[in-house]
Amino acid sequence: MNAPKVVVVGSGPAGTRCAETLALAGLRPIVIDENSNNGGQIYRRQPENFVRTYSQLYGSESDKAAAVHSDFDSIRDKIDYRSDTLAWAVSENTLFAAERGRSVEIPFDALVLCTGASERVMPTLGWNYAGNYSLGGAQIALKSQGCAIGSNIVFMGTGPLLYLVASQYIKAGANVAAVLDTSTVWDSLAALPKLLAMPSMLWTGLGLIKTIRAARVPIVHGVQPLEITGSGDAGVNAVTYRDKRGHAHTLECDAVALGYHLRSETQLADLAGCAFSFDRRSRQWIADIDDKSRGAANVYMAGDGARIRGADAAEVSGRLTALTLLLDLGYAVDEKEIKRLRSLHARYERFANGVTRAFPWPIEHVRNLPNDAIVCRCEAVSVGELRDASRGKQADEINRAKAFSRVGMGRCQGRFCGIAAAEIIADATQTPLAEVGRIRSQAPVRPLPIAVEQ
Ligand SMILES: Cc1cc2nc3c(=O)[nH]c(=O)nc-3n(C[C@H](O)[C@H](O)[C@H](O)COP(=O)(O)OP(=O)(O)OC[C@H]3O[C@@H](n4cnc5c(N)ncnc54)[C@H](O)[C@@H]3O)c2cc1C
Repeated sequence: MNAPKVVVVGSGPAGTRCAETLALAGLRPIVIDENSNNGGQIYRRQPENFVRTYSQLYGSESDKAAAVHSDFDSIRDKIDYRSDTLAWAVSENTLFAAERGRSVEIPFDALVLCTGASERVMPTLGWNYAGNYSLGGAQIALKSQGCAIGSNIVFMGTGPLLYLVASQYIKAGANVAAVLDTSTVWDSLAALPKLLAMPSMLWTGLGLIKTIRAARVPIVHGVQPLEITGSGDAGVNAVTYRDKRGHAHTLECDAVALGYHLRSETQLADLAGCAFSFDRRSRQWIADIDDKSRGAANVYMAGDGARIRGADAAEVSGRLTALTLLLDLGYAVDEKEIKRLRSLHARYERFANGVTRAFPWPIEHVRNLPNDAIVCRCEAVSVGELRDASRGKQADEINRAKAFSRVGMGRCQGRFCGIAAAEIIADATQTPLAEVGRIRSQAPVRPLPIAVEQ
């Protein structure tokens, strides 16, 4: 009998542990990643010829990064690893990919999606000027190229990444003007019981705040972002925000890093036929997965692509998913190990729920955005245009509003504007957010180079 053909998309912490577990069981999975190297977001490897040490690159997570990299290297000859390969569609047990300029079709018996997360962003008036970056973009500039996004930078938004990237910039010697957080101290306190599920991770988070405070960088909680000012030619020159007492402040800067925690990358899961449910806690749509991490008959999900739980949980979930997949394929597996991983994962889950509580999505600010703020940067759709389209054409469902306004129709396919757009439509038409729905995924899930050969 031929060995089952398993395809893993993603070689971050979840994909690495999943591929490792499958390879140790004697399978030879195909592992696909659009990046040139493995490691995923958090353990992104530096380009060749860069020589920074693990501790310079990954700080407190350097041992974990080294373990994920070396364990992946040790299974390289036991897997079929295809880097620089973008999976852009799934249909009928076949994955469609663009592999280094070539179009390939990869049939599978089981598909494991370890596609990670991307950032959740909230529009702000002026966020379309040059000099605005997502927190991830700012981090990639630092990790990948060793450069800062500006010489006087404001970090604005909410979520762990806000503090992490600000502290990484400070440690790298960049000038951080302030950290402006839309969440309040009360939010953090209310989240504490859940955050205590993982004391070491809580401690790491407090360490980030300590680094920022030690550099005398102000941290302001409970802000309302009002405007990022600048000009089309010169880019960003200041940020204006309102503090929790209602007073407006303006901070000069030449770059802004923005982000509001994360969202799962679920387009392939959508195309593969997984069902989705609205999660009231995070106000996002997430794929329904069963206790075997299955989203559809032979489609499994692990890591942040399934649920935002963080990198350590992604490793656990990658292993766990591989073991349950092996069970489904009829392999003998250590059921005690499955039980152990499930219980560990439950603790990460509790911690992650605490993070969601500590850094809530600032619904009111999204709803109060001025009409001339841009919501969809790809198609330059303003908040006012979206409000008019959804009210004027009775488009209280997001795919209908997309057709009338072009929101989410550009190259990001709504991955960045979709969540805010839904909130704006819900408010404009007085429709419950869950009924506004989510943007349907379309192939290709990311832009493809024109030169991809058939
Ligand atoms: C921008 C950003 C920065 C982050 N920085 C940090 C940090 O510094 N510290 C921290 O603790 N957490 C960070 N996080 C969270 C952290 O990245 C995740 O918790 C962790 O990496 C999850 O692991 P994963 O394996 O699920 O996904 P990832 O590590 O994201 O790996 C997913 C992999 O899938 C690949 N992929 C996705 N879609 C496709 C496709 N269609 N075709 C081919 N390949 C695909 C990606 O290239 C990627 O390599 C960050 C998240 C983001 C979005």
